[in-house]
Amino acid sequence: MILEIVFKEATHDCWLFSSENSDQALSLKEVVKPFQCHSCPKFPEEHAISRIGPDLAFETTKSCKAFITHDDWFIVGREISESIRQYTNCKTVPVNKPETWFALLPEQYPVDIKVSGFEYSGVRCKSCGRWEEAVVGPLVGSIAMPEKHDLFWTSDVHNESAKGARPRLWCKKSDKKKMYSLFDNSVKFDEAW
Ligand SMILES: [Zn+2]
Repeated sequence: MILEIVFKEATHDCWLFSSENSDQALSLKEVVKPFQCHSCPKFPEEHAISRIGPDLAFETTKSCKAFITHDDWFIVGREISESIRQYTNCKTVPVNKPETWFALLPEQYPVDIKVSGFEYSGVRCKSCGRWEEAVVGPLVGSIAMPEKHDLFWTSDVHNESAKGARPRLWCKKSDKKKMYSLFDNSVKFDEAW
């Protein structure tokens, strides 16, 4: 049985890729703009995180150890980042200076689009191929898992809203205890579908 790992804490004022000005209008951070598709507002998120790193200048008033940003990315503190690096193949990328917060980039396994369960809406970009919205999927059964898979993982195609990708994390039910310990009790679990 597979479970979806859900972070207990969500931030409603913290964005990884955008910033809010004083009248709460949201704009994409300058450092992210060069990665944007030339035909639509989207950009390859994981690639941008790896390339930009601490210059994303992520800020939060939160003091918890792990949370999901308002643009749906997983952020962990240094201690959790170090355990994750020790026990998994997951990449953790510093996203602020000094380096106290890290974005999680788990191993990605391929989705069989035909059985992924995605329901698309809006326009599909002719340049980058991404839909404005891709909801419901990917169903966990559409992800091709290698025999030796990581302790937790994500898919190579994400669910997405008009804001961009909404990656998800999965693990085996038998590894639930390990996840509590790895994420210092800052996660809960949903049954995966
Ligand atoms: Zn595009």
